[in-house]
Amino acid sequence: MNTIITSFVERLNTINKTDEIFQALADSFQVIDKEIYSVCLKVDSRTYEIVPARDIDRILINNIKDALERGICGQISDPNKVVLISDHKRFAFREDDRMLLLPLFQKQVQYGIVVVVFPEKLLDTFEMMRGDLNMIGIIASKFFDLLYSIDTEKHLVKERTDTENRLANIVENVVHGLIALDNNHMVSIFNKNAEIIFNIASSAVIGKSYREAFSQKLVRVFDVLVENTLIEGSILDYEFEMELSPTLKIPIGISTSILLDSQGIHQGIIFLCRDMSLTKEINRLKELDKMKSEFVSMVSHELKNPIAVIKSSVETLLAARNLGKKLDDNFETNSLSAINDEINRLSQLINDILSLARIESGRVEIRKEPANIEQLIHSTINVFKINEETHPISVSVENIDHNILLDSDKVRIVLINYISNAIKYSPNGSPINIYATLEGEEFKVTVSDNGIGIPDDKLSSIFDKFSRVLIPETQSIKGTGLGLSICQKIIELHHGRVWCDSKFKKGSTFGFSIPISDFSRAN
Ligand code: ADP
Repeated sequence: MNTIITSFVERLNTINKTDEIFQALADSFQVIDKEIYSVCLKVDSRTYEIVPARDIDRILINNIKDALERGICGQISDPNKVVLISDHKRFAFREDDRMLLLPLFQKQVQYGIVVVVFPEKLLDTFEMMRGDLNMIGIIASKFFDLLYSIDTEKHLVKERTDTENRLANIVENVVHGLIALDNNHMVSIFNKNAEIIFNIASSAVIGKSYREAFSQKLVRVFDVLVENTLIEGSILDYEFEMELSPTLKIPIGISTSILLDSQGIHQGIIFLCRDMSLTKEINRLKELDKMKSEFVSMVSHELKNPIAVIKSSVETLLAARNLGKKLDDNFETNSLSAINDEINRLSQLINDILSLARIESGRVEIRKEPANIEQLIHSTINVFKINEETHPISVSVENIDHNILLDSDKVRIVLINYISNAIKYSPNGSPINIYATLEGEEFKVTVSDNGIGIPDDKLSSIFDKFSRVLIPETQSIKGTGLGLSICQKIIELHHGRVWCDSKFKKGSTFGFSIPISDFSRAN
């Protein structure tokens, strides 16, 4: 028997995996006698797999399978004891075969059985060996236990490495720049896209404090982000411009979040950085597209009315002529003057649309030159000399003792619009006041009237394109609703602002102001 234990223990030296124990056990019994044949059953919950000793005949393996199917294993009652099959005749394959089972248990769970078939003549030998056989079972189980723990450990390590590799892969391939700082502000993650966005190699920053690794400008940005993230917990799309070269700046959006472990303990801060150029461009194009379709629908609406009037008047005149009918002189004059009015309105509309389109497309440049404001206002109101009797205009200029840098031609357009509106929307005899002053760092002009005023609910949109107040008082007043939009654009090009104060049925004040930096003061 010693030979079995020796042969088995020797084999243990070469075993690395639990599976190899089954083969070693099956082979060890063959050492005693050539007529012995043995297999090991690898038991896995309800199934088993046969591991035969080497060189064992296929037919004999099938015989053992047969015996197993007939319930031979039911004879195992003690997990630690060898069983010598008593009704061996029932399972015998050869005349004088005897059979024993060596159960293999690990922590009360059966993981295998050694089935040994031997000739009757070896019965005494096996009877004497019972103790040693049990010992083999115990050694095998201990060894199985050991390998099992090592296998599990290896499996866990592999799983952990796999997970780590997978995570590292995700971090590297995330479409945004990903940066992580630990609690000491050391950079622990700096992925490929972060390298591209910030133009820094990860090897130059990993393991270093961001204050030491980033440029001064970037440190200032990260200082703000770190401070606010620690207060707020997270930040969404903080935007700043990254200067990659004197001529290349890209808008960067950074979202941050505090990194917590599974116990909720603070591990650092994570930064998700993205190049916003594309998003901004897409938004700009979307906005442009929306503006275009709004514009087209508004313009087509504004064009339809005058064309309808012209069409019906012309049709009436033509029909009368074709029928050889003499039309009433008054009717003919009225029709022709309606056509004339609408054509004037159309050409005004087209001029306004074109001016607005030119300004909006950025094709209009502001050419600032020193302007004497008093002269500019007086030369502008000369245009309205013809209205002197119906709408007297008074001008007061205060506090302006030097020339101001502005584009006089463009500012004149704004003044003309404000003044002509004041005339259009106030009754005859009602005066108009123009007031200009310097207030702080602003040059300010207001045009006031005592006219029909603007209802409160219309005030906030009065500078919008095609915004017109449609009330009985304005029904007969022609206009395009574009003049104030043009004014607003012109003043915006001067970095200034426009406004309107109005009381319905009392009067309105339209104003604009232009900032005067030291550069725009001209003496
Ligand atoms: P419009 O060609 O219709 O006058 P504007 O853009 O100049 O176009 O003005 C838009 C609308 O603002 C006008 O239709 C009118 O309803 C209102 N509005 C402008 N100026 C005055 C004003 N001084 N008094 C009352 N309403 C005004």
